[in-house]
Amino acid sequence: MNIVVDTHTHTVSSGHAYSTVQENAKEAYANGISMINISDHGPAMKGAPFLYHFGNLRVIPDILYGVRIIRGVEANITDYNGTVDMPERYLKMLELVLASFHDICIEPSTVENHTNAAIEILKNPYIDIFAHPGNPQFQIDIEKVVKTARDYNKLIELNNHSFNVRKGSEDNCWEIARMCKKYGVRITTGTDSHISFSIGRFDNVMKILKEVEMPEELVITTSVEKMENYLSERKKRIEK
Ligand SMILES: [Zn+2]
Ligand SMILES: [Zn+2]
Repeated sequence: MNIVVDTHTHTVSSGHAYSTVQENAKEAYANGISMINISDHGPAMKGAPFLYHFGNLRVIPDILYGVRIIRGVEANITDYNGTVDMPERYLKMLELVLASFHDICIEPSTVENHTNAAIEILKNPYIDIFAHPGNPQFQIDIEKVVKTARDYNKLIELNNHSFNVRKGSEDNCWEIARMCKKYGVRITTGTDSHISFSIGRFDNVMKILKEVEMPEELVITTSVEKMENYLSERKKRIEK
């Protein structure tokens, strides 16, 4: 299995990341990656860009240094009803939307509350991916969340970065992968790069995919075609 798409990357615009879109694209190309999602943090995070940063992403060319650039965001979940920090009209303009928990934007609560928020974001037609779902600070009922992703045709992320920065994520990530396989839920892969050099480096994610013998058809980042098909699927869903 060979991953050619990285759906989770940050640029200097996030405020605590250190590479530009151009540097990310060049490094992606050098690392054998054909598509990257520019998923800077939503505005509720300190140092993250204003809303109109996201409205202006269209100035970025579709292809940069041989790499297809997806215009996205990593929105912050800001309450346990699944509210995120970006109005619908902005989410609508984007090509791929991640949502995730960060303790600087929402206080960790109970498993029940975390699970409820995760379910609500997956039901939201404008949100595509629950990012770093294995974060033990925001422990979820994995089976319930994975089943919701199945029911709403959404994607669950395996985040390569979690193993290094979100201590205790590992067991959750294994369980999430096993559940996705069990319920036939599609997986996306993100490095969550905050500097260009880690783009496309999926050592931790590959280890899990191999060990759980994940069917390749469930990993949408192994071909540009599968990813483009998903982006069209999203477009159709939100046009409804
Ligand atoms: Zn970040
Ligand atoms: Zn991130």
